[in-house]
Amino acid sequence: MDKFEESAAIDCDVLVVGGGINGCGIARDLAGRGWRVVLCEKDDLASHTSSSSTKLIHGGLRYLEYYEFSLVRKALQEREVLLKSAPHIMWPLRFVMPHDPSMRPAWMIRIGLFMYDHLAKREVLPGSRTVDLRQHASGAPLKKSYRRGFVYSDGWVDDARLVVLNALDARAHGAQVLTRTRCVAAQRGSDGWVATLEGPSGPGTVRARAVVNAAGPWAESFLRGVARSARGETLATKSLRLVKGSHIVVPRLFEHDHAYIFQNPDKRIIFAIPYQQDFTLIGTTDVEISGDDPGAARIADEEIDYLCEQASRYFEKPIVPADVVWTYSGVRPLLDDASGDPSAVTRDYLLEANTDAAPLLSVWGGKITTFRKLAEDAADEVGRLLGDARAAWTDGAFMPGGDLSPWIGAARRPDEDFERFVAAVQQRHAWLPAALARRLARAYGARIALVLDDAASMADLGAEIAPGLFERELGYLKSAEWATTAHDVLWRRSKLGLHYSAAERAQVEAWFAGQEQS
Ligand SMILES: Cc1cc2nc3c(=O)[nH]c(=O)nc-3n(C[C@H](O)[C@H](O)[C@H](O)COP(=O)(O)OP(=O)(O)OC[C@H]3O[C@@H](n4cnc5c(N)ncnc54)[C@H](O)[C@@H]3O)c2cc1C
Repeated sequence: MDKFEESAAIDCDVLVVGGGINGCGIARDLAGRGWRVVLCEKDDLASHTSSSSTKLIHGGLRYLEYYEFSLVRKALQEREVLLKSAPHIMWPLRFVMPHDPSMRPAWMIRIGLFMYDHLAKREVLPGSRTVDLRQHASGAPLKKSYRRGFVYSDGWVDDARLVVLNALDARAHGAQVLTRTRCVAAQRGSDGWVATLEGPSGPGTVRARAVVNAAGPWAESFLRGVARSARGETLATKSLRLVKGSHIVVPRLFEHDHAYIFQNPDKRIIFAIPYQQDFTLIGTTDVEISGDDPGAARIADEEIDYLCEQASRYFEKPIVPADVVWTYSGVRPLLDDASGDPSAVTRDYLLEANTDAAPLLSVWGGKITTFRKLAEDAADEVGRLLGDARAAWTDGAFMPGGDLSPWIGAARRPDEDFERFVAAVQQRHAWLPAALARRLARAYGARIALVLDDAASMADLGAEIAPGLFERELGYLKSAEWATTAHDVLWRRSKLGLHYSAAERAQVEAWFAGQEQS
């Protein structure tokens, strides 16, 4: 595991500040081009916005209404590139929009879906169609007044694991990934930066030729309070709008595998998505917040009421706050484009290069869906700034664990490939209970071999710390995936926390406490 050595300064080409999807994606891309990279993350990987998204790999149907055609096309193009790169943590998802004639007219939705189908090439994802909700399975849990629905495709991703996979790939290409390590100062010189990092073992220094500011909701405050020009001045140029989005999780509301997109009277939309087998995920909201501490964003009672009320406009059985078993909130770091309505602020990204002295590249905005393209653009730009453009490589490359071919032969379709992979895992490890084999296959893909190591029986997995969670997996997460607390494992490396009682979660905490003492 990467450790910050206090004694000696680390020399590198690029210091990336921020271990969300953008920082980890950029570190991966740069390291793969042969740059010497250090990434620092003040908390755990993906502990903020990048584990709090709706988890869609999507073009963003609603952005068509804001004429964001270039963003939608860019995102639509990325869907299949991503689905093929990591079929274990991403999969195609069909969405049903029940038609409500009091909202958008059917012709408008049809035009939008036609554009959505045709703005980018599709090989895997089926196109849109109209369904009779009185016949289609997705009509069953809805109010009987909804008779017609529009069905279209997008993708689903385990956002927190996607971040970890990027960090793993960055490290595999030589990057140093320092978690729980905050950049507290970054002093710019004419030909390099000197940064002070504070990690678990105290402060230390990194000397870098360039800095990438991928601090997400903290990108503006990083430039105001942490980075300093040679003359000690602030480097802030742009303002972020911080827009909180919250989700609620309720016990499973329907049996089929489609998700819903619901139109609300306020012109917003919300999703209701099958989640973690036993649950339904409902979100999101758009609430503008002030920038003091984006990490402290939590759902408000009004947001819970809003999500319950909007979903209940569609489902036959009303959803009430007492149904909610879990919530999470994240903060969108959106570039201020002077839109009045937070829902209307652009979701596109901007890379801002500052070349007054040693290079500084700041990432503004972005989406999980466009992270690979953003990282590629950022690595191109860093190469230019360092006077050595190096070739892009991530389009068509697998994420760690995504190449299932050693198990199933040549790839065909990501969703079918994954099912063939699960069957191969069950065949090779017939002693693994089916549900555990599937969970591990989803989480680790072809890296399952690293988790199971040479285990040949359940006894080889060590003690069962909580239901279905064995010492061997915890040891792997601790030694290979930067997990240092029960929270990291229960809510980010997995979502087992949702399935466990408080007592079971406490057993995982106790395991980590025991590791500290040993
Ligand atoms: C409610 C919601 C729903 C969304 N849904 C979707 C979706 O369905 N699909 C989609 O494509 N996108 C979605 N998004 C957008 C997407 O989640 C974000 O664009 C993306 O996660 C931003 O990633 P990031 O790396 O820029 O920020 P973050 O994930 O916040 O990462 C920045 C990191 O920088 C670290 N940091 C800050 N300062 C320092 C410092 N001084 N030293 C060290 N580390 C530091 C922070 O701790 C943080 O972890 C959604 C966003 C929200 C909020």
